[in-house]
Amino acid sequence: MRRALSAALGIGGLGVARTLYEWRRMNSIEEHDAEAFLPTPQQAQSLPLVHRKGLLTEAEVRSLVEAVPALRAKGAGVFSRTADSIVPSEAGTWQTTYVHTDQLFQKNFAPLFKKLRAAALEADSAHWGIAKEAPGELSVRVIEVHEVSVAGALNHPYHFDAGSVVTIDLMLSEDEDYTGGEFETLELDGSSNRPNFQQGDVIIFPSHKYHSVQPVQSGLRRVLIMELWFGETRTCPHRCELHWGKCSYSDHYEKWFSRLVHGKEGTPTAEW
Ligand SMILES: [Zn+2]
Repeated sequence: MRRALSAALGIGGLGVARTLYEWRRMNSIEEHDAEAFLPTPQQAQSLPLVHRKGLLTEAEVRSLVEAVPALRAKGAGVFSRTADSIVPSEAGTWQTTYVHTDQLFQKNFAPLFKKLRAAALEADSAHWGIAKEAPGELSVRVIEVHEVSVAGALNHPYHFDAGSVVTIDLMLSEDEDYTGGEFETLELDGSSNRPNFQQGDVIIFPSHKYHSVQPVQSGLRRVLIMELWFGETRTCPHRCELHWGKCSYSDHYEKWFSRLVHGKEGTPTAEW
């Protein structure tokens, strides 16, 4: 479909109304295809959470936690939020590092990435069967490390990861590092499922399943979250909304970064 889109643009050009119409029509079909097969949040609610104890060793978790500042130094996107996780803030109660930026996590932690990806896909094929409904293979939409201090919460019972297929959360903190911050899902019968989520464990769920995090009461809670979707592998330094095509956020980020490093705007590359 992308080849067809390029051909349409190449032959007609953007100045031809019919071509622009074609472009819009094809683009909307692509975006629709990217999410049409996903369960609705109501359907996802009946699908079970998968909790795998100790998927990663303490040493693997430690190496990852220690590398986060270095990944930031290499250009991983960073975003700080207020306690309610919505409003940007320098205070950084909730700091997110987008470690999939330029595939930094995939390159620097290849075995861990493969283990997490395999666990996510296994959970889906064993319990939900969503990925097989997708028109093609799933890719990484986002891999983010959340560092949440006191009062930080995702306190919205009907929150879900819209547009993604599978979400996998990896606990990086030890039990004694924080209190509060319990992860929970809202089940179909109205009950909450609160897994005993400990360091090295992963919890895997359909991205459209309602989930939330209670306020952190003390300490610092660290988790790594990966979302797989049907779309391109994203390398832009944020949680992208665009399934295909060049992301303007990346463009902006690259220009900013290029100015910072080279003192001028660089030439956009294929990855960006
Ligand atoms: Zn993007």
